[in-house]
Order: sequence, then C-alpha cells, then structure tokens
Amino acid sequence: MLIKLDGKLLALEIEQRLKHEIGTYVKQASRAPGLAVLRIGDDPASKVYVSNKEKACQRVGIESFTSHISSDSSAEYIINKIKELNEDENVDGILLQLPLPKNLKEGPILSTITPEKDVDGLHSQNLGKLVKNEKGPRSCTPAGVMALLNSYKIPIESKNAVVIGRSILVGKPMALMLQKENATVTVAHSYTQNLSEITKQADILVVAAGRPQMIGIEHIKPGATVIDVGIHRIKPELAKNFSEGRKLCGDVRSEEVASIAGALTPVPGGVGPMTVAMLLVNTVNSWQHHCGLPFSLMDLVP
Ligand code: NAD
Repeated sequence: MLIKLDGKLLALEIEQRLKHEIGTYVKQASRAPGLAVLRIGDDPASKVYVSNKEKACQRVGIESFTSHISSDSSAEYIINKIKELNEDENVDGILLQLPLPKNLKEGPILSTITPEKDVDGLHSQNLGKLVKNEKGPRSCTPAGVMALLNSYKIPIESKNAVVIGRSILVGKPMALMLQKENATVTVAHSYTQNLSEITKQADILVVAAGRPQMIGIEHIKPGATVIDVGIHRIKPELAKNFSEGRKLCGDVRSEEVASIAGALTPVPGGVGPMTVAMLLVNTVNSWQHHCGLPFSLMDLVP
C-alpha cells in the first residue's frame, strides 16, 4: 500500500516543538528568535513564499523582519542592507528570497550574509561544512526531505538513491545528505542519457529537475520511495489532465506513479511545508547559539 509522506503534518509537528522550545527559553534569552527576509522585486511566487514564511514565524514565536526592496536597487544597496542585518543583535537568520531580478547576481549578495546567520545554508562556508560532515545550517529543502524520510523510517543505509538535479539549492546538498546516511547515490542532470534506466535502480528517487510532470511509471522501481521536489502552477492548457480545481503539480506524474511506488510526497503538502519548517529550525538553532542556550534540535539537522 502506498505511504503518503505527509510534509504538512510533519511540519506542523515540528512547529509545535519549536513553539515549545521558544516558550521555554525566551525569558532566559531576553528576546525571541529573529528572522530577516529580503524580498527583491515583484516576483509573484516569491511574494507568496515570503508571506508563508512570515506566517510560519508568527505561529511559532519567531519575530520576522521583512524588507521589500525595489527591483531597480543596486547590488551595493542590498549588500549594505545585509551588512546592517549581520550586525543586528535581534536577527538570528537572514534569508534572501530567490530568484533575484535578472539585473542582480546572486553570488556576491549571498556571500555577504554572515555564515552564522545563513539560515538557507547556501554560503560557501556552510556548504563546505556539509561536504566535510561538520555541523552547520543545512539547505532547507534537502534537510526537509531527510526529516521526512527519517520520520517515516524509510531505510536509507545501503539503498540506491537517485537524485535528479544538481543545483546548489537542492540536488547537490541532497546527494551529500543521502550519502552521509550511507546510501549509494547517483546524481542525474540535464545531460544524463537513458534516465529511466538509472532511475529504475532507485530505492529512493528524489526529483528536483524543475520540469513539470517529467517522471512517470516508466522511471520507477516497484516499491520505491519517490520524493517530488518540483512545484509548478498548472498551465491552463494542461488543466484537463488534472482534477478540477487543482492549481499545483510537481515534476512527478503522481496519479500514475502512485500505482507502483511504495511511498510518495504529494504536491502540494509534501516537500514545500518541510522547506519552511527547516528554515524555522535553522533560525531557532542560530538563536540558541547566539543566546548561549542548549542545542535541542540537532536531531533535525542532517
Ligand atoms: P534548477 O533549475 O536550479 O535545477 C534543475 C536541475 O535539474 C539542474 O541541475 C538540471 O541539470 C536538472 N534537469 C533539468 N532537466 C532535466 C532532465 N530532463 N533530466 C535530468 N535532469 C534535469 O532548479 P532547483 O532550484 O534545483 O529546483 C528544482 C525544482 O524544485 C523546481 O521546480 C523548484 O521550483 C522546486 N523547488 C521546490 C522547493 C520546495 O520547497 N518544494 C524548494 C526549492 C525548489
């Protein structure tokens, strides 16, 4: 029987735990954890994502400081803003919502965020810590996938895992995290040939290609665990392929894959809420570090 890997439910459980941790230690710390989110320009999806993150902060007791910066601002202006936040004692985490407007380069702006407040785990220093298995903030999406696999006790050790996608945001850190748990990991990407032959070996298949509906039954080993990281608005011309009212789909043709997989994440309600939950975890971890509190969430950090 197919197991639905319910990220929405697990994210709520994690939020309860964070709320409890914050409630227990806020007096000792003399302040709540603080997360600064920078949204640059008017990308409509980013607006929704930032609003969801603000709401999640509010639910658990993290203070959120959001700056909405106009898309014609210079890189210097944004870098100076980040430098101010690096120094701000009420801010434990800084998140730069991606993608940036086309006129701005991600690299120099992201690297201005001090590694200590890099709650997205994208700073080279923190990615280096992941490579070396040292403790540090981890990229939220793959960390959320690991939390989901662990929560449902999906065996990882000695299993074949295939990750489709090699981005810094998802694919690469995902592969490293699975490897750390002793999976044999293959990374597929846009130059990979005969993709289905590779994915059919996977006990765990993580799909982060950003290609709507690209993975179907022909890619799946019977009983495999399938993690669909992709998230897309369903274009009107494809709406007929989905049940009425459905607005989002993933990289996986879920109806089809559900008939053969052993476990599957839904879209929405799978990886998305876990990404937000791990952002909160990274922020609370950073607060505990800054305020000299005990680290109580390390079991959630892959
Ligand atoms: P990206 O575009 O940076 O990377 C996509 C990767 O997929 C690339 O490495 C590319 O080589 C690979 N790829 C593309 N087409 C392929 C193909 N046909 N076969 C094999 N590999 C192929 O995207 P990203 O930032 O890694 O995000 C991937 C997807 O995950 C997007 O749909 C994004 O919206 C989604 N995402 C979701 C969450 C969430 O919280 N649910 C978070 C981050 C990203």
